[in-house]
Amino acid sequence: MATLSNSGNSFQAAAIFPGAIKMASGTYTGDATDNRAITVGFQPDFVIVKDAGNTEGAGRTSTMVGDEPDPATLVEFVGTFATSNRPEVLLLTGGEPLLRPDLVVELAGAARRAGTRVALLTGGYFAARPVPARILRALRAVDHFSLSIDAFHERQIPRCHLFRLLHLMLDMGTAVSVHAVGSGPADPYLAGLVSQTRQEFGDRVPMLVNSLRAMGRAAAWSLAGPPVPDHQRVLPCAMAAWPVVAADGTVLACCNQDGVDRRPVPDHLRLGHIGTDTWPQVRDRALTSPVLRLIRATGPLHLRGRYGTPAGRTEHGYCGTCLRLGDHPEILRAAREVAAGRLGELLDEHAARVQFEAGPVALVRRHGCSRYADLVTLPHREGSR
Ligand code: SF4
Repeated sequence: MATLSNSGNSFQAAAIFPGAIKMASGTYTGDATDNRAITVGFQPDFVIVKDAGNTEGAGRTSTMVGDEPDPATLVEFVGTFATSNRPEVLLLTGGEPLLRPDLVVELAGAARRAGTRVALLTGGYFAARPVPARILRALRAVDHFSLSIDAFHERQIPRCHLFRLLHLMLDMGTAVSVHAVGSGPADPYLAGLVSQTRQEFGDRVPMLVNSLRAMGRAAAWSLAGPPVPDHQRVLPCAMAAWPVVAADGTVLACCNQDGVDRRPVPDHLRLGHIGTDTWPQVRDRALTSPVLRLIRATGPLHLRGRYGTPAGRTEHGYCGTCLRLGDHPEILRAAREVAAGRLGELLDEHAARVQFEAGPVALVRRHGCSRYADLVTLPHREGSR
């Protein structure tokens, strides 16, 4: 049941939303597993759901789908990994995976039985106090532990607590790393964080350093437009090789947030659903899709520049172009003609080998904050191997 406030309400503080804002609040009875639509009589721009005990809340905008993947379906899907056909690494990320520590233990156990290594990325929301037993069990279940550290996280959890957590993991014998984000290569926050982390841990903590960019749901709020891309240049997308499970169980070919949030998912990026497909099916689609092969080998811009009609060359940037490839049947047709067979397979393999040989530092130079790219290979710096 929902109660609607005065429909004429508007809020200065929410000026980014055009027009008046309606608000509705109410209660519903559920069992945390059904997926009924709760109707309030209009399409909300923002929804906050709290459970009866007020212990966990979830917020989502009108363009986002689902709250959390169903745990049983996730475990079942990971159960389809086999020693002969499995991903090398399963990354548990969020949201915040340690809000469901028992599920982390279950998923990590199922993945490791098939020989898949498990990495976990957390914001360390629990780090200010002694680590609760259930979370400790989850931390012991993974092979690699990554901590997100940035100015926004540190407002909630000061650095000294995060460092203590890294020490705890290292003492347990688990490999660790830091995912850091700053405003750009010259950000003094990043320089300070990198320097203090090196002082505290020496070479034992690799760092993946990124710069804030206009991405995902908030991209439209940014005044900076995307750089003007070069349509002739071959610029392969390495991200199209990492299947990602979205909150509603859909499996996508990459982690681009616009793709993860968008429904329907563009056909060429949809690999299946954990409720109906197995890992071997998802892997097979990722490897044999002609469009994905060419996205991995040449990148979406080259694809559009080479096979698209001049009329279709409106500027949408690198990923924006990729997300819209489905609007261009001529490109999809050409991709099928070029890359459906052995030639496409060879092109894909060659592009993967070239990027693999270029190494992780080259990958981070392109996708992360290039000034700090070397830190990603600590303690085994490239050249020292
Ligand atoms: S180019 Fe396409 S496949 Fe690659 S990250 Fe962007 S949206 Fe994903």
